[in-house]
Amino acid sequence: MIRKTCAALALAAALPAAHAAFPDRPITLIVPFPAGGPTDIVGRVAAAKAGEILGQQIVVENRTGASGTIGMTATARAKPDGYTVGLATVSTHGTAPHLFPNLAYDPVKDFTPISNLVTSPNILSVNPNFPAKTLAEFVTHVRANPGKDGYANAGAGGVNDLGMIWFLQIIGGKMNSISYRGSAPALTDTVGGVVPVIFDNFPSSLPYVKSNHLKPLAITGTARNPRLPDVPTFAEQGYKDYDVTAWYGVVGPANMPADVRDKLADAFARAVRDPATAAKMEETGAFPLGNTPAQFGEQISTERDRWKTVIERAQIKLQ
Ligand code: GLU
Repeated sequence: MIRKTCAALALAAALPAAHAAFPDRPITLIVPFPAGGPTDIVGRVAAAKAGEILGQQIVVENRTGASGTIGMTATARAKPDGYTVGLATVSTHGTAPHLFPNLAYDPVKDFTPISNLVTSPNILSVNPNFPAKTLAEFVTHVRANPGKDGYANAGAGGVNDLGMIWFLQIIGGKMNSISYRGSAPALTDTVGGVVPVIFDNFPSSLPYVKSNHLKPLAITGTARNPRLPDVPTFAEQGYKDYDVTAWYGVVGPANMPADVRDKLADAFARAVRDPATAAKMEETGAFPLGNTPAQFGEQISTERDRWKTVIERAQIKLQ
């Protein structure tokens, strides 16, 4: 017994101790969308708790632009030592890769999946001055006014742009895509009346809907959201095959050491499942997940393939 212990100790001493102390300095979490948007909200809440669990601060750095792909390019190019990770989304890893021919990364090969933190529905809303007050009225109005109105979205080729393009194809309508660096500036202009319509991730739109600055018409998903129980889903209003889910998950550059990856995955998963943190996420209308690196890796591949099919079937191209 004693001999065995000694042998184990000797073996441990012989192994490279490089990651034994990980993390021994602050970690950077690249959030590829602006402050105040859903990716930023989720990232900051999760980073605070995961940092507490790891005993090191996780510093959020917003690197925005090109539907999140600028921040994700920076993440892919970082040193794979666990000290720089990024918050991937359905836009950066599901939709944009099929629409940006010069994208500098492959969503699967160039990253180490760590943990998908949260999923969220999307919501279609209008400025209260817009003539349509229900989804049915919206569809009638858009069909009668092809190309007249614009819709704000969090980035060309991102999930909110594509989700709307897809819906317009279903209803046979035409609108102009007005893209921003993220949800926060897109919302400012919709609430301000610059653009009349917005298709957005739920958490960022929720406060504006609650304060009556936006009129909600429909949410994606199979069920209504407990935060806005009066807002019907697209499915219950007749659009059964139309569904668009957003998600936010931590990834690192490819080739991260497994022990470092697992330590981060464990901390982030525990963070989003912590009752107080989970409650904060749920208050935004999002659903905490915190899955494993293997599960998240599978999800990224599935999402990439799913959006490829949607984009090809509907022959979606960036305007
Ligand atoms: N809609 C973006 C996405 O799901 C996030 C926008 C934002 O965080 O501002 O990829």
